[in-house]
Amino acid sequence: MPHLVKIKSVEFLTHDVLKIIAEKPSGIIYHPGQAVDVSINKPGWEGEKRSFTFTSLQDDPYIEFNIKTYPSHHGVTEQLLSLRPGDELFLHDVFGDIQYKGEGIFIAGGAGITPFIAILKQLKKDNAIAHNKLIFANKTKADIIDEENFNKLLGKNFINILSGETIAGYEHGYVSAELIKKHINNYTKYFYLCGPDPMMDAVEKHFQSLGIDNNFIVKEGF
Ligand SMILES: Cc1cc2nc3c(=O)[nH]c(=O)nc-3n(C[C@H](O)[C@H](O)[C@H](O)COP(=O)(O)OP(=O)(O)OC[C@H]3O[C@@H](n4cnc5c(N)ncnc54)[C@H](O)[C@@H]3O)c2cc1C
Repeated sequence: MPHLVKIKSVEFLTHDVLKIIAEKPSGIIYHPGQAVDVSINKPGWEGEKRSFTFTSLQDDPYIEFNIKTYPSHHGVTEQLLSLRPGDELFLHDVFGDIQYKGEGIFIAGGAGITPFIAILKQLKKDNAIAHNKLIFANKTKADIIDEENFNKLLGKNFINILSGETIAGYEHGYVSAELIKKHINNYTKYFYLCGPDPMMDAVEKHFQSLGIDNNFIVKEGF
């Protein structure tokens, strides 16, 4: 049976990413990095399930999602734009391949940052951020989710790369094998990857060219 939860707040995190906070249903169990299939309790939309990753932690008294919206798809994320506190969501199955295994480099494209938001929140809580690094790929600076927070959390271990604009202090282009190699050091054991399929395909080829063992790659496609 799906959980039915009321939305507590909806706000914009960037120009097209919503932060949605909802009631935490009793009995739900998830670990940082996991997602859940969500549908909207609105006539005609109850059966339209889409996957979103928890950006809250299991112990939080609420659940949170950061959701990039695509009005042009005329799908669920367009509908989410019209939701208000008191509207309801169904939460279906919890699942997900990404979980923290040890220090390494997180590589995210766009909304693919969401599992890493949860994992890094947990690491901060556990005082275990250590030498982890984050390479975050976006089109423009305005697309970067949570930039200030990652700057505070990771300092020089937070690397932004922008494909759509050139800004001093930000890498330019797409994530390349050279960029990954530049950030590998003695502490790098795992490579975490999440983003849209074309980015995943490209970065996985870079992993191959760098001779990275599949056992040390943790990934999920959006
Ligand atoms: C495990 C997992 C976790 C995820 N977690 C998150 C998360 O935390 N945050 C987040 O933002 N995203 C996340 N995603 C991605 C998210 O699920 C999708 O962005 C979302 O399903 C899009 O739903 P939608 O109904 O708006 O659009 P879609 O389901 O993409 O599209 C609806 C319809 O529009 C049509 N369509 C598709 N593409 C286009 C196009 N380019 N132009 C016009 N029409 C089109 C298709 O006919 C489709 O049926 C996750 C995905 C996975 C697999």
